[in-house]
Amino acid sequence: MKAEKTPQSSRRQFLKKACGAGVGMAAGVSGLSRAWAITPTGDDTDAAEMPLRPFGNSGVKVPILGLGGSLNFLNRQLLLGQALKMGVRYWDTADNYSGGRSEEGIGAYFSKHPEDRKRVFLVTKTGATSPEGMERSLEDSLKRLKTDHVDLYLLHGLSRVAGVIDDVTRGWVEKTKADGRIRLFGFSTHRNMAACLAQAGRLGWLDGIMLTYNYRLMADEDMTRAVDACVRAGIGLIAMKTQGRAFSFGGGGRGEELVQHFLDRGLTKHQARLKAVWENSQISGICSHMDNMTILKENVTAARDRTLLGDRDRRLLKRHARRTASAYCAGCGDICESRLDDPVPVADVMRCLMYAHSYNDYQMAREAFARLPSGIRSRLLQTDFSAAEQLCPQRIAIGKVMRRAAEDLGYSPV
Ligand code: SF4
Repeated sequence: MKAEKTPQSSRRQFLKKACGAGVGMAAGVSGLSRAWAITPTGDDTDAAEMPLRPFGNSGVKVPILGLGGSLNFLNRQLLLGQALKMGVRYWDTADNYSGGRSEEGIGAYFSKHPEDRKRVFLVTKTGATSPEGMERSLEDSLKRLKTDHVDLYLLHGLSRVAGVIDDVTRGWVEKTKADGRIRLFGFSTHRNMAACLAQAGRLGWLDGIMLTYNYRLMADEDMTRAVDACVRAGIGLIAMKTQGRAFSFGGGGRGEELVQHFLDRGLTKHQARLKAVWENSQISGICSHMDNMTILKENVTAARDRTLLGDRDRRLLKRHARRTASAYCAGCGDICESRLDDPVPVADVMRCLMYAHSYNDYQMAREAFARLPSGIRSRLLQTDFSAAEQLCPQRIAIGKVMRRAAEDLGYSPV
């Protein structure tokens, strides 16, 4: 199966046929069982236009666009079917997404369309890290997903690897791979990503990592080195949070100039941000929170389109990142949290706020906030964050933002 195609038509021509008929059927991955390959079938000419990239050294190729996010798929069955048809065959979920309804929704889809299971590269995550916990969590996930295996199993939301993934973990992973319930193993991270990647590269036996990665972070030197280390170690990388969403309050405007510039180029700013990430061929794919057909089609169009960003595009993205830096948390909690007498998970609180203010998903934000350590609300209100603010590379007014979080999120999930 080919990885990516060369440009064959202008962007205008492409947009005319976006989401329309395809260009022929891709071949299967030789030497791999069908369960490992993502193989378009007869009615999938549409899907054949989705570019694929190798996933580390696994021998698997994945579509550059995947479907993910904490979504209730029980009421998005049509979306799943359409995603598959368009070649979005990397499906990402987690044991706790939408209170289990994300996995249950995918399971409901597979119950109705059992033949589609082998066409999906299925990813789920667990909050457990002990062998007993992972075992229980995996069995529960398989039941909800109505399948006998997942293609990639991830430890969910690590902020460090040392002391979490060790030889005991490896023993469980090898046993579980051998009995066929998981194909590949790794972790997801949205805190201290560069350090996590660097540690993973040194371990040398992980298959995949899902990380926060976007136009704001990809030029960072530590991140660049860490990505290189993972690629050398054969680890497949999936980018998430690729829109680099800021809080909606404070921090340098909404980027009207950026919006207009990309519209003139025939791209939305969302498509441009996806393209910025895809331009790094070290990234196997993007896992995107696509909760409706409009976003699915917009992103699929961007994935199939071969237009490259130009120097001016990149300059504008960089300038926007600079101007709005104080409203974007880079997840480097090790920096600011080390300066606090009382432990406060600043980066996690910032992420909750991003769900609320940028995704406009207050339920997800409050659920995530409710999982933070007890007593967090009063600590947000009482802690002096001034020393932490001095170290923040994004120059965020941390104290002000933490107080806003306490006000907006500091009560029970609705
Ligand atoms: S508040 Fe600043 S230092 Fe703390 S995690 Fe966010 S960007 Fe990093």
